[in-house]
Amino acid sequence: MDLAEKLKEIERQIAKAAQKAGRRADEITLLAATKTQDAATVREAIACGVKAAGENRVQELTEKLAQNAYEGAALHFIGHLQTNKVRQVAGKVVLIHSVDSLKLAQEVSHTMQQLSGLAASVQFQDILVEVNIGGELSKSGVEPQGLQALLEEIAKLPSLRIAGLMCIPPRAETPDEARRYFARMKVLFDQTEPYFSKQIPHVLSMGMSGDYQEAILEGSTLVRVGTALFGPRIYIQ
Ligand SMILES: *Cc1c(COP(=O)(O)O)cnc(C)c1O
Repeated sequence: MDLAEKLKEIERQIAKAAQKAGRRADEITLLAATKTQDAATVREAIACGVKAAGENRVQELTEKLAQNAYEGAALHFIGHLQTNKVRQVAGKVVLIHSVDSLKLAQEVSHTMQQLSGLAASVQFQDILVEVNIGGELSKSGVEPQGLQALLEEIAKLPSLRIAGLMCIPPRAETPDEARRYFARMKVLFDQTEPYFSKQIPHVLSMGMSGDYQEAILEGSTLVRVGTALFGPRIYIQ
């Protein structure tokens, strides 16, 4: 299958899962996870109808931005973000999915305040708070127990708007196991919605190539799909 066909197939699966959940397909955004894909491939995906692209490494994002790879799509940052790299991301993407500490949120807020002083068009950075829903030691994200306290602090920061939550759950053995993590995220999402900005649509970013249908069944509003769209990634070191 070529890219256009794979995209159509994923859109069909999204519509099917949405229908099964009694939801509208247009409530769900398909984000193409474009890591390791070159600018030409990203452009091809956008020409096929991809409306949102997400990078998880700052260097790749910077390189492909310089090549105008994302023209015609909304650009997201979905990877782990270090405070010393915030300057290369804030104000350049519509949504940062991976804020998981007050320190990082403060850096984003601070950077946006400086940028808005320079250009009136740059006002807010919209963000998601990443939750370590499986409580894995190796993963980033705030622990569910600490989520509310973190949101409370982040919500006070200027030039930044909380749009919702994101997670990368542990690798599940079965679709049911994946659904349980997603269901827990949906509970957290509903509980913490009062902290999200009232000026923007709320986003629950969960589901990847192997489990996006399950995520949609449990309330995901944005799925991040790489392999199912582009094929296996080839890493060149
Ligand atoms: C790479 C990546 C994805 C997509 O993963 P696939 O399994 O290839 O669909 C989703 N989210 C994040 C944060 C990623 O880094």
